[in-house]
Amino acid sequence: MKIAKIEHYQVHLPYSGGTYLLSGGREYTGFDAAIVRMETACGLEGWGESTPFGSTYIAAHARGAAAGIAEIAPHLLGRDPRQVDRINDAMDEVLMGHNHAKTPLDIACWDIFGKSVDMPVCELLGGSTGFRMPVISSIYAGTPDDMRARVADHRARGYMGHSVKVGALDSEGGPSLDADRIAASLADRQPGEYFIVDANGGMIPETVLRMLRLLPDGLDFVLEAPCATWRETASLRKRCPVPIIMDELAQQDGDIAQIVADDLADGIGLKISKAGGLTPGRRHRDMARAAGLTISVQDTVGSTIAFAGIAHLGATVAEQNLRCILDCRDMVTLETASFDAPVLDGGVLVPQAAGLGITVNRDVLGTPVAIWET
Ligand SMILES: [Mg+2]
Repeated sequence: MKIAKIEHYQVHLPYSGGTYLLSGGREYTGFDAAIVRMETACGLEGWGESTPFGSTYIAAHARGAAAGIAEIAPHLLGRDPRQVDRINDAMDEVLMGHNHAKTPLDIACWDIFGKSVDMPVCELLGGSTGFRMPVISSIYAGTPDDMRARVADHRARGYMGHSVKVGALDSEGGPSLDADRIAASLADRQPGEYFIVDANGGMIPETVLRMLRLLPDGLDFVLEAPCATWRETASLRKRCPVPIIMDELAQQDGDIAQIVADDLADGIGLKISKAGGLTPGRRHRDMARAAGLTISVQDTVGSTIAFAGIAHLGATVAEQNLRCILDCRDMVTLETASFDAPVLDGGVLVPQAAGLGITVNRDVLGTPVAIWET
């Protein structure tokens, strides 16, 4: 089996909630997706998506994804897409880093691999655990009352997890505002709900410790990505009574190894485009499990095509390690594909269809911005 054609589509995904506010004054109203369609000489097709969260979330941006795909795609023609590790070796040989550009190509290979043996991708990744995966909301940093209302709205729609964004500068309200945001977001907590307090690297050890001391006792949450650097995180870790989850800093294999070696965290946010696709994501899953870390399977953002990748990898994480998966479909208004995985009874099951199990809405993609073929 050989890759005969690769198409790249650029699609704008409007944010569903107006303006998304993140620590450090970052604002987002929409996201630019890189969507790849891959075709084999025998006529199988595979799809993959990578949607950076703007250009200031991690070192990734939409025009970089386009340039990276253009750099890599010609070198994948003629290769067997089912040799997923060899495909990733080939991508690494022609372009160092740029995980977000490699991601849609990697996922498209897995989609084809699944279709070629008539099996869902999750079965090829190790097998579905079969339990409903709890989904997590993404609650941007607003006023405490507004955040409480948005948590309640997602709760009513079956979300069992909530990622609550904090990280106010002193001029914006500082640790006091963030403590109020946390208390308000957790005020109506229900049994079984899971809360992540996510600063997206926007705090320093001093502000985190001040924020924690302002909170009432007994609130059940974990702290995600409190600081932007390894040094700050290591310093905070020694003095922080709350479990720490690494996200933006955990990108490469070596990052996960360092987290384990230095005992820097209790879990990771496994975002597929941050890791570079399902192939490296699978390794991060296994490293985390071996080390007893929890895993939230997510992506930076994305449409239904990206969500399908999240759901298939999430379905293979052992129940005690899987905290939640991100339903990024909820964050954008454009539906790029149909995927029979509704949120029911607090969670999502992966459909039993070959490959990713999606049907792409070609009408919303427009025409490809680039095509490579043999
Ligand atoms: Mg995060």
